[in-house]
Amino acid sequence: MKVKQSMIGLHPYQPGKPMDEVKRELGLDEVIKLASNENPYGASPEVAKAVNEAIAQVAVYPDGYARLLRQKVAEQQNVKEEQLIFGNGSDEVILILCRAILSAGDNIVTAVPTFPQYKHNAVIEGTEVKEVPLADGVHDLEAMYAEIDERTKIVFVCNPNNPSGTYVNEQAFTAFMEKVPEDVLVVSDEAYFEYVRAEDYPSTIPLLDKYKNLMILRTFSKAYGLASLRVGYGIGHEEFIQAVEPGREPFNTNSVAQAAAIAAIDDTEFLNGCVQQNAEEMIKFEHFCKENNFPYFPSEANFILMSVNRPGGEVFDKLLHAGFIVRNGEALGFPEYVRITLGTPAQNDKIRAELLSWLK
Ligand SMILES: *Cc1c(COP(=O)(O)O)cnc(C)c1O
Repeated sequence: MKVKQSMIGLHPYQPGKPMDEVKRELGLDEVIKLASNENPYGASPEVAKAVNEAIAQVAVYPDGYARLLRQKVAEQQNVKEEQLIFGNGSDEVILILCRAILSAGDNIVTAVPTFPQYKHNAVIEGTEVKEVPLADGVHDLEAMYAEIDERTKIVFVCNPNNPSGTYVNEQAFTAFMEKVPEDVLVVSDEAYFEYVRAEDYPSTIPLLDKYKNLMILRTFSKAYGLASLRVGYGIGHEEFIQAVEPGREPFNTNSVAQAAAIAAIDDTEFLNGCVQQNAEEMIKFEHFCKENNFPYFPSEANFILMSVNRPGGEVFDKLLHAGFIVRNGEALGFPEYVRITLGTPAQNDKIRAELLSWLK
């Protein structure tokens, strides 16, 4: 049996190392995972209740259209229900978009380094990927615009960008939208939206009225703390979303996830608490980097890409043996860096102390 040509040479996604595996391999009692940008405070307690109730119905297929969650999100975001598409994580929305839009001979434009799923899915569709280096860690929208040609179908803007945590501001984003041809889709992947503090971060939803070629991605996996349940969504122009919907599997978001997401939206107090705590912890990390002359990228998300002026692989190994799983920057396009997800205050104190004790 052969897979299609475009699959050859691709590798399955490499997730952050699982905690149990690290414990077993290294004989550690405690392992702290700060590798996948999950919420260290978990999810709202209301989520557990909603999940328990939904469990009673596991024998029944979910509502494939996610009607109740759809109503909830439409209300929350002040958009029409028909403007939403739900996915088994926003990862799946990326897959659906690529499947629905891309063919061999087309191209997409992305930044590099950025979230790998844009390229991965485009490559499977046989599509060329034009990668434009970040400028000082930020999407270079001018250079990305210059790469657009008559074969370009999608431009992905990861905002804030994973793995750098940096953001494109409102002025740069709207100037870009103003120029991009109407038949090129611009996807603003806002997986870390809830964490953003910058006042000039673009409000993209109101831009949908003006730009019919704009699509926004959001997820429940990060600040809402539902990564294991897999639910995310896209917001776009109604006609476009309706054209893409047939590319979605019939029951792609499960009933437990739908119920959990509804409960998570309702608990704004929990969300705000997590976001506030993250902001405070980010300030501590920034101070730590400044005090010790460690280069870092200013981050609007719940992770920080930082360097201790040693190869990322060496830092990764050292931290792993001390019981911390982080991301090795060598695999992310930043060989001198590691990407650390912000944990709880106690976890963050510990990892910073570990780094200092090792370096001294
Ligand atoms: C985590 C992440 C996602 C994927 O989130 P899911 O909803 O869990 O699939 C999408 N985009 C970016 C930039 C991410 O970091």
